[in-house]
Amino acid sequence: MGIEKNLANLGIVTTCLDKVLNWSRKNSLWPMTFGLACCALEMMVTVSARHDIARFGAEVYRGSPRQADLLIVPGTLTKKMLPMVLRLYEQMPEPKWVIAYGNCACTGGVFRTYNVVQGIDQYIPVDVYMAGCPPKPESLLTAIMMLRDKIDKESLKNRG
Ligand code: SF4
Repeated sequence: MGIEKNLANLGIVTTCLDKVLNWSRKNSLWPMTFGLACCALEMMVTVSARHDIARFGAEVYRGSPRQADLLIVPGTLTKKMLPMVLRLYEQMPEPKWVIAYGNCACTGGVFRTYNVVQGIDQYIPVDVYMAGCPPKPESLLTAIMMLRDKIDKESLKNRG
């Protein structure tokens, strides 16, 4: 049970708390160390000095889903791999966010086949879609900025 559920029950006005929590959450995103295919290589480059993802407080990739709040789905997701991805997602604590990174994660990309998932959003909620094959590291930074904007607008009242 998170703070969201308790506050919702108390009926407390949470506007200011929203601002503090959203500010801290958007500036300390912890992505999970996780890759599926070619898009993952572009994702890895974003932590290099050239792209400096640390500017957005998202450089601390975590080795455990229990310590992560951002799942970047980078690459082709096969149906055989799907149960493992869902398990990792379920192990992440709330609040958590998802970026579908690349055409394959968004729609299955060029792989219109029976064994490839045609979009991760068929199984888990996606917050930001980033198209490309592969999207450049700058695109991931754009996705992070879009996610930060989204987090900024969240309210404890709507999360449960
Ligand atoms: S979108 Fe393109 S680069 Fe990314 S995993 Fe699919 S085929 Fe590879």
